[in-house]
Amino acid sequence: MSILIYAESAEGKFKKTAFELASYAKKIAGETGTTVTAVTINATNSADLGKYGVDKVLAVTSDKLKAFNAKAYADAIKQAAQKESAKIVLFSSNTDSLHIAPLVAVGLEAGYASNVVALPVSLSPFQVKRNAFSNKAFNVTEITTDVKVLAIGKNSFGLVEASGAAVEEAFSPSLNDNDFTVTVQSSEKVTGKVTIADAEVVVSGGRGLKGPENWGMLEDLASAFGAATACSKPVSDLGWRPHSEHVGQTGKPVAANLYVAVGISGAIQHIAGINSSKVKVVINSDPEAPFFKVADYGVVGDAFDIVPKLTEKIKEF
Ligand code: FAD
Repeated sequence: MSILIYAESAEGKFKKTAFELASYAKKIAGETGTTVTAVTINATNSADLGKYGVDKVLAVTSDKLKAFNAKAYADAIKQAAQKESAKIVLFSSNTDSLHIAPLVAVGLEAGYASNVVALPVSLSPFQVKRNAFSNKAFNVTEITTDVKVLAIGKNSFGLVEASGAAVEEAFSPSLNDNDFTVTVQSSEKVTGKVTIADAEVVVSGGRGLKGPENWGMLEDLASAFGAATACSKPVSDLGWRPHSEHVGQTGKPVAANLYVAVGISGAIQHIAGINSSKVKVVINSDPEAPFFKVADYGVVGDAFDIVPKLTEKIKEF
């Protein structure tokens, strides 16, 4: 059995999730006595993957694949999986990969499970634990096909360094011209220094901040943390913040190490999108705010009083 990961990159550099997938794959490989291969698309620093357990890198370099193209990417990854006779193919559970992974699964006639949140419960039979019902419950899914395709949630396993070096091999999949009739241009709207998807820390504001003019203090806190800024749905609906910052069930999912919610009530639709975050800190003037029920740390008080003090403290570190 071999394991293939799709190591995602942006502007040539691997995303942190690529290293998380490598760590996850290495752990399974260690238990099954197999190797880990990564397929990369227009990435430049393959050696970095070796630090997290990748033995071999199939490096695809193609101008045609500079813009994201779900069908063409899926085709390339499928061919890599076939070349390696991979029995497990791993993706990150993010927007791009959730487009590609089902296509790869269909191409490989493989069973597919998304939102996987831990190492397989069992390798034989092959069972994985997944988030269900907007992250309010877990289920265990069994995949019975020979090849399995999984999309792993961010922060589900973490980074585990390994000794070893990845051997790079150029890989040129045959691409179908019909897949390039439409070109998708993608741009990530960046309002802070870090994007919400990649952020370790997210500082998020709700209607409790009263108006867009008060967001400066949140940006100061985010900057002290090196965090991305986010907001609740009404805040983006009201035009206080761009829609790209809206998080929750109908917005972007957040799986940060630290999520700081300021003046957000904690409605189920908000919680559904952020509860994969590891540590949740809630600042709210209402001690009955539902958010406190899921908070790891809570501060009852006026955000306008607490946030500037917190920012000063964080800056001291
Ligand atoms: P409010 O509910 O108005 O809460 C404001 C909070 O600020 C209160 O708890 C208040 O105590 C606190 N506060 C007030 N003043 C201060 C102060 N000075 N200091 C500290 N705290 C203060 N919402 C999302 O966020 N994301 C989604 O994806 C989403 N999807 C939805 C999908 C559907 C189908 C529906 C029906 C709703 C959805 N919602 C979503 C909306 C959701 O139900 C809530 O209405 C919304 O999350 C509330 O936003 P809020 O907490 O910012 O505002």
